[in-house]
Amino acid sequence: MMQLFIPLNFLGFVYREIRGAFANIERMFALLDKVPMINDSANAKTQALTQGRVSFEHVGFRYDSRAILDDVSFTIEAGQKVAIVGDSGAGKSTLVKLLFRFYDVVDGRICIDGHDIRTVTQDSLRQAIAIVPQDTVLFNDTLIENIRYGRPTASMEDVNSAIQMAHLSQFIESLPDGGQTRVGERGLKLSGGEKQRVAIARAILKKSPILVFDEATSSLDSHSEQAILTALKEVAKGHTSLVIAHRLSTVVDADRIIVLSKGKVVETGSHNDLLAACGLYANLWRVQQESGR
Ligand code: ADP
Ligand code: MG
Repeated sequence: MMQLFIPLNFLGFVYREIRGAFANIERMFALLDKVPMINDSANAKTQALTQGRVSFEHVGFRYDSRAILDDVSFTIEAGQKVAIVGDSGAGKSTLVKLLFRFYDVVDGRICIDGHDIRTVTQDSLRQAIAIVPQDTVLFNDTLIENIRYGRPTASMEDVNSAIQMAHLSQFIESLPDGGQTRVGERGLKLSGGEKQRVAIARAILKKSPILVFDEATSSLDSHSEQAILTALKEVAKGHTSLVIAHRLSTVVDADRIIVLSKGKVVETGSHNDLLAACGLYANLWRVQQESGR
């Protein structure tokens, strides 16, 4: 019996690993609208990127011939929270795609812990970053397995603690089969807020030094948004976080806010600095305050 058990257990492990790899690929495609063309260079290093210091140095990017980003420079020290705000189409999501190396920069470079991201393997890079996207893809599997995609080898203890931090416990307890409830296209449909909390739990489980939230709460009502923001604050402790936000009220506490307009950094500073500067940010803030968002 024991002889049979060990290989089966091992196969289960391999199965989860493989499924985890597919999940990452699917997640990549969910973020992208086309297949990435980037390959590891022949001498790419396997490099642990554990500090989470991010620097964009004079980054330029264009799709085909249209300029999208021009001379973008900023640094996020390890453990800092930096927010990027700006109109739709300003290039915010493109910054995230370049950081994750879905595309390579055209000018300048992006470094993590001082390593140009083109010199390390994509595995090394992607282990260093967890993204909570705007639209989370759920797979046809149990809720627990959907969360475990963050790190297929995670212990049940770690999964449970991620569930708690993402404020999912109450929701899971309310389900007939709890964490074993099947979700996704052929299972229970989750609301936008519930899906985003699953994405947050995945990101927590991944335990990567850099967390990226790309408008992770923009489609939620303000009650769900508050609950998720509270969860995100806990998650971000001890991590570098890059938060892309539409609602400025969600980034007031950032160490630094970068205002992007038509692919250029036009202002940078704390919330108070930027209000005092009476520029684009102050204007956006006033408009959003007046419209009650
Ligand atoms: P934001 O996230 O600030 O709304 P994006 O970074 O998504 O802006 O997009 C910046 C600009 O790049 C937009 O004008 C958008 O239309 C364009 N763009 C985004 N993705 C592609 C693509 N795959 N091919 C061509 N243009 C794109
Ligand atoms: Mg975007």
